Amino acid sequence: MRYNILIAALSIALLPVSSLAQEYPKEVVDAAHSISSHTLMDYVHEMCLPTYEGRGAGSEGYTKIANWVADHLSQWGVQPTGDDNTYFQKYPWPYTEVLAPGEVELIVVQKGDTIRKPYTIPDQFFPGSNSDSGIVEAEVVYVGFGISAPELGYDDYKGIDVKGKIVVFASESPAKSDHPDVEKWVPYSLHQYKFKNALEKGAAGVLYVGTIANPSIPFQKEMVYAHIGDQVVAELFYGTGKEYGALKNSIHKTIKPASMSLKKSARIVAQTVHHPNTITSNVLGLVEGSDPDLKDEVILIGAHLDGQGNPGVLLPGALDNATGVANIMEVARAFAQLPQKPKRSVAFIFIGAEETGLIGSNYFVNNPTIPKEKTICFINLDMVGNGRGLALWGAESYPHILEPFAKANADFVHRNFSSSPARIPRTRPRSDAAVFLKAGYSAVSVGATERVKPVNYHHPDDKPENTITPEIMEDASQVLFLGVWNLANR
Ligand SMILES: [Zn+2]
Repeated sequence: MRYNILIAALSIALLPVSSLAQEYPKEVVDAAHSISSHTLMDYVHEMCLPTYEGRGAGSEGYTKIANWVADHLSQWGVQPTGDDNTYFQKYPWPYTEVLAPGEVELIVVQKGDTIRKPYTIPDQFFPGSNSDSGIVEAEVVYVGFGISAPELGYDDYKGIDVKGKIVVFASESPAKSDHPDVEKWVPYSLHQYKFKNALEKGAAGVLYVGTIANPSIPFQKEMVYAHIGDQVVAELFYGTGKEYGALKNSIHKTIKPASMSLKKSARIVAQTVHHPNTITSNVLGLVEGSDPDLKDEVILIGAHLDGQGNPGVLLPGALDNATGVANIMEVARAFAQLPQKPKRSVAFIFIGAEETGLIGSNYFVNNPTIPKEKTICFINLDMVGNGRGLALWGAESYPHILEPFAKANADFVHRNFSSSPARIPRTRPRSDAAVFLKAGYSAVSVGATERVKPVNYHHPDDKPENTITPEIMEDASQVLFLGVWNLANR
C-alpha cells in the first residue's frame, strides 16, 4: 500500500531507537511489552472450555463468560459503563437449546426396495441451531435460493409444489456482489426471509446447503431444518441428470430459477427446546482520559463475546472470536494499569449476540451508553489471531485514525500493514463494524492478514491449537494499545 510505504519511509528517517523513548513514555513502552501471547492464549483457552457452552447468545455459558470478563475489568479498575453503573447492557434474546445432534438421512426407493443412508456430523450435516423440535420425512425439492421476488421477476417456487415437503436451498441470492442491482436482492438474501418464505409456501423442512453452525437463523416454529455438506448435496442430485454446482451457476448467470423435485426423500430429526424470554448482554468498561476537556471524547474498541454455542456439538470459537476478546482484554488491562492515562478516554465493548444476527451491536448503536457524538471511532476485532500481517480495514477513509496505528506498527512490531477504504456493504451486513458504520460512526477493523493456519469457520475444529498463531495476537494487541494511545493523545 502506498500509505504503508510512506509511513515506513518516515519511520526510517525519523525514528532511530533512541527517539522512541521521547515519543512514548517508558511506562507506555513497558505496558505495551506487558502484553504477552501467554496471557492472550490463557484467555483463549479459558473461553473455549465446555463450561461456557461455546458462548451461545442467551445460554448460561454466555452469562458465565460475560461475568468472567466483567470480573477482570473490575479487578483492573476499568470503570463500568453499561446500564445503571454496571458492566452489563442487557437486552432480550430468545434462545434455542439444541439437546442432541439429531439426524439427516437420505431415502431412495429402488425397484421396490427402500435404501436409507444416514449421515454424520459435523461434515456431512450440521444440526440447525434454531430448528423446531420434530421429525420430518418427505420428498425433497430443490428451490435454488428459496426466493420469491415478483418485482424482480424471480420466483424459485413458481409452479413447484412444496406442501409438506423438504426444500433444499442455498444462502445469498442469484445476484452476486458485482451485480448492478445487488441491493434490491439484499432483503431476499436474509436467512430469516428464506425460512419465512419456505414456511409460507407450506414446506415442512429445510436442508440448507453448507455445513456451518449458523445461529443467525431465528427460531423456526413448525419447521425442522439442518445444514448439509457437499457429499449430501451431491447425493441428493444423483439420478436427476443435473449437478448442483452447475445449476447454481446457471441461476447466477441467467437470474432464472432452476427448481425441481429431486425424486427422493429425506428424514430430518431435530431435538431442541426454545426459551423465548431469555436475556443476554453486552459488557462495557471505560478507562477515563486524563485531560479535563478531552476526556469526554472516547475511542471505543469492540469484539463479539458470543460464539456459535453448542448445537449438539461444542463450537469452541477459538479464532472466532475468543481471539478478539482476549486482544481487547489485554489492551484494557494495559490502559487501566498505566500510571498516566492518555488525554482521551478509551472504552471497551464486549458485544453479545453477534452470531445470532448482529443483535448486540445494533442494540448498542440504538441505545448507546456512551454519547455517539463523543465517540471518535469504533475499532472492531473479529478473528484477529491467525496470520503474518496486520491490517486496519476501513481506515484509509480516516487518515487521522490510520496514521497512529501505522506508526505504532512501524515503531514496534514491523509487520506488513495494510488498509482499505471504509465501505458500507452492498450485500447483507456481516460484521459489527458494518453496523457502526451504517449508524454513522467512523468504524474500522483490526485484521490479521496472510493466514498461516486453517480457519475452520463455525466448525467444531476452531480450537486454539488448530487455528491460532499466538505471536500475531501479541503484535496486534500491542499495535492496538500503542495506536490507541497515539490517537487518544492527538
Ligand atoms: Zn466472528
